[in-house]
Amino acid sequence: MVSQSPDIKITPEAPVRAPSAVPVDDAVLAFEVGALDLRGRLTRLGPALDEILHKHDYPPAVGKLLGEAIVLTTLLGSSVKFEGRFILQTRTDGPVSLLIVDFQAPDRLRAYARYDEARLKTGQSSGELLGKGHLAMTIDQGANTTSRYQGLVALDGGGLEEAAHEYFLRSEQIPTRVRLAVGEEMRGGEGGKLHWRAGGILLQFLPKAPERAKQADLHPGDAPEGTATHHVPDDDAWVEGQSLISTVEDVELIDPDLSGERLLYRLFHERGVRVFNPQTLRARCSCSRDAVSSMLKSFAPNDRAEMVKDGKVVVTCEFCSSVYEFTPQEAGAE
Ligand SMILES: [Zn+2]
Repeated sequence: MVSQSPDIKITPEAPVRAPSAVPVDDAVLAFEVGALDLRGRLTRLGPALDEILHKHDYPPAVGKLLGEAIVLTTLLGSSVKFEGRFILQTRTDGPVSLLIVDFQAPDRLRAYARYDEARLKTGQSSGELLGKGHLAMTIDQGANTTSRYQGLVALDGGGLEEAAHEYFLRSEQIPTRVRLAVGEEMRGGEGGKLHWRAGGILLQFLPKAPERAKQADLHPGDAPEGTATHHVPDDDAWVEGQSLISTVEDVELIDPDLSGERLLYRLFHERGVRVFNPQTLRARCSCSRDAVSSMLKSFAPNDRAEMVKDGKVVVTCEFCSSVYEFTPQEAGAE
């Protein structure tokens, strides 16, 4: 199903209208619940996710995990500025040893995973697939700035939602909740092909008075045993926000017939929710023959020579599986 974006602008001058029933796929929707000082983003992915995952022959569990990483990237990265880039990467010791999602503002997404087929078992959770290691987020604000930021969070047997919570608690100190859901949907026509769908929601508590955002103390870590932990009760508005987001079902996040606006309305209508224009996303790789050619030229002559097989050098893009062929001469491997 191809979804059309409703051509309605929501501005402060015209704040009230009914939620659109038209589902918008491959988009991030920013929203605000002013009465509770909550801000958030909602992502729905359909065809773009299909395009990324179908370029690889991933086992379903790997596709699902990479889908979660892609949704998380869109929730976190869609605020980077024009020409900026947000890269999410995990390196762990589990069956899925590497996930990379590259989001290039304003709308380009690409991603891939590395995994060990022999270690995959049915029923493994995201945390079990990842194992232990870390998740890194790199923000590059574009060619005209030198600002580059990297956030790092340990993965210790938990999934990506948990890692995101840990990151916001420790690094940003913003009360945050994240929900991620990925599923496959059987649709009629074309022999009933399976299609990937994903959705996610990020909710943050950003009160004007910073003391209201104080969270319960971090785990004391190395503190001596028996050290009393000091408990700060969560602000009432944040308690309400967390309880609302905890009611979201995975099926609601990926339901192709439930528009993102309707889902937000379902969650927050009692408090009033303001929804901004959707930001569209597409699956697009930035590789090219020229880029691969200059990469080859950066290799040592010996390494280039070793790449010659059957009289040619073949390079496959890990992100999009595009295959680039060069003669040994073109590859500088003679
Ligand atoms: Zn590519």
